[in-house]
Amino acid sequence: MKYQLVILGSGESGVGAALLAQAQGISVFVSDASLLKDVYKKELHQAGILFEEGKHTEEIILDAQEIIKSPGIPDTVEIIKKVKEKNIPIISEIEFAYRYKGDSKIVAITGSNGKTTSTNLTYHIFKEAGLSVSMCGNVGNSFAKQILVAPTDWYIVEVSSFQLDDIKSFRPNIAVLLNITPDHLDRYNYKFENYIESKFKIAMNLTQDDCFIICADDEAINNHIQNIQTKPQIITFSMDKKLDTTGAYVQENNLVIDANGELTTIPLSELSLPGKHNVYNSMASGISARKAEVRSEKLRECLGNFTSLEHRLETVLSIRGVEFINDSKATNINSVWFALESMKKPTILILGGVDKGNDYTIIEELVVAKVKAIVCLGADNTIIHNAFKHCNLQIIDTTSAVDAVEKAYQLSEPGDAVLLSPACASFDLFQNYEDRGQQFKEAVRKL
Ligand code: ADP
Repeated sequence: MKYQLVILGSGESGVGAALLAQAQGISVFVSDASLLKDVYKKELHQAGILFEEGKHTEEIILDAQEIIKSPGIPDTVEIIKKVKEKNIPIISEIEFAYRYKGDSKIVAITGSNGKTTSTNLTYHIFKEAGLSVSMCGNVGNSFAKQILVAPTDWYIVEVSSFQLDDIKSFRPNIAVLLNITPDHLDRYNYKFENYIESKFKIAMNLTQDDCFIICADDEAINNHIQNIQTKPQIITFSMDKKLDTTGAYVQENNLVIDANGELTTIPLSELSLPGKHNVYNSMASGISARKAEVRSEKLRECLGNFTSLEHRLETVLSIRGVEFINDSKATNINSVWFALESMKKPTILILGGVDKGNDYTIIEELVVAKVKAIVCLGADNTIIHNAFKHCNLQIIDTTSAVDAVEKAYQLSEPGDAVLLSPACASFDLFQNYEDRGQQFKEAVRKL
């Protein structure tokens, strides 16, 4: 049978797209080279959608009118090369979902770090302001599934570079680009420039009716924005009040948001999320909210009462004056920089896991200034030992969360903090970063 649409990959986005396609009367087939999770199999069965697992049947795939490629699949796999040779259009799930969003508006949020936090915070503000809003994309439902099961006037969509790689007409009303630091370079021919271009695709279809919110303190963003002919209104945020800063900045320990003709001022000490990185996230979310005409008063209230997310600088407990903080989501060096930057107490740092090519010199100065000892939590910690051996610090190895927590506690004194901010992926010892964070928290509670 010839299908209008074939979906390659059957995770949250693939299955969401399949369900939306089926509901739209489009003939759809799902193909995955791996086995499907039971929950997704059930959803496809219930909707009467045909699928295959553990293989890609070329006769079906190469006969499709259009292909949706899941974000996890790189362009280099054999089936994608063949699809490209046959010139079958490839799109991403957010591109497909976009066709069915109707009159609803989109805030799309991307960046190397801070996407989930900013998406949640933006959603929180919109919701508290009484808007009809949902959050989707890389958090919760896929964009396609959200449109199908619970459409809203506003969608706050967390968008990855892989999703942006295959957009054609996806046009958010408000696009947010938080920061760009090297990540996922294996998918971009090891060229940072390619990754930057991918992130900037969030703005490629914006018109003068839309706005593009960017960080003016980010070197990669600043350099790249000079080269592009953007049509939208560009609104910047920065830690310093600069002449060209149009949207949000910090002045005399206040966060100031100047957007849509209203000035919102909130003391930094009243922001509910800790750390300089979260000042950036608060600025980006705050500008988005003002563009959606959320009143200043409500915005100020929401930036002050948002509860922090699990595994992101999450305070677990204080035990005999030692504060334990779970930042398991910090899987790259940039997020560890911001975590250390926010630390006010002498810190025992738990680092390690699967290293994605970290440049540890980026955090060296902060380590020297704030870290008392490093507890490595990884199967192979050689890179960390080499990176910090000249820093005159105690560095010890552990291979379980329980061991890491116990050793860190032994090394600490009242008034210290123990920070799990690993800079690495977790797959050597844990299922994922959530599992690592949970095991850390359990170990702390058992001390
Ligand atoms: P993402 O969804 O982009 O991975 P998260 O909001 O889940 O981002 O945060 C991931 C990690 O990055 C956390 O450890 C967090 O402390 C850190 N982080 C959050 N926001 C920023 C930011 N704006 N800049 C740098 N690091 C950040």
